[in-house]
Amino acid sequence: MYTIGRAVRSAANFLIDFLFPPTCPLCNAPVDMHGDLCIDCWTAFNWIDGPKCAKCGYPFPAHIDVSPTALCPTCAAGECALDFIRSACVYDDASKAAMLPFKHAGKIKYSYFMALAMIWALHGADICPDIVMPVPLARRRLRHRTYNQATLLARPIARVYGVRMDVDSVHRKHRPDMGHKTPKQRAENIRNVFTVVRPDRIRGRRILLVDDVMTSGATFRELRRVLMRAGATAVYGVSFCRVVRAV
Ligand SMILES: [Zn+2]
Ligand SMILES: [Zn+2]
Repeated sequence: MYTIGRAVRSAANFLIDFLFPPTCPLCNAPVDMHGDLCIDCWTAFNWIDGPKCAKCGYPFPAHIDVSPTALCPTCAAGECALDFIRSACVYDDASKAAMLPFKHAGKIKYSYFMALAMIWALHGADICPDIVMPVPLARRRLRHRTYNQATLLARPIARVYGVRMDVDSVHRKHRPDMGHKTPKQRAENIRNVFTVVRPDRIRGRRILLVDDVMTSGATFRELRRVLMRAGATAVYGVSFCRVVRAV
């Protein structure tokens, strides 16, 4: 039965590939497997796969030979937004070209390669989350956008860890967009927007937050503050891309 089932599945996959040949989600060039990027699109991204801060994943210049336990100045000063952070790539023209349509133009097919890159960024990380939580979106924004892009990224990550994805223990109030603000203004703008409505699900849990982009870290930092107050024991984060400024 098992062999027959497998044969039926592979015949079905063959038929799907024949009818809908796998193409790169970004440029439609032919690729080997559904969801894969073509080599040109893959190499356009600035992947954070070299030396990095052991705690927040901030990329160090590739030519620098640092110990795997080295910390960036922010983490060395004890000012990291979370207990552990990783990001798949740097926020630049290439990641922006994928992120904006993913966020605002319904390109949810991008979520597969983005989540895969985030899972790869977490590979070997010494964390053990009990819950995976997409950064909540305010209800008003959710109605307008129809989906929370962070949820699409969080679902496969929760599956890899074999834990629950939590989308309703924390609510977010609507505030105007934070675009083009200083880190200080961002921190003030995000202050008190999150409310833990199900503290029973947070108490004693290690939580992995998921977002598409990390800018100043203000959102992660504020979420950690309310989650720790509700009894979380650790708060980690992963984003597809992050803004990298010279340190
Ligand atoms: Zn491509
Ligand atoms: Zn760091």
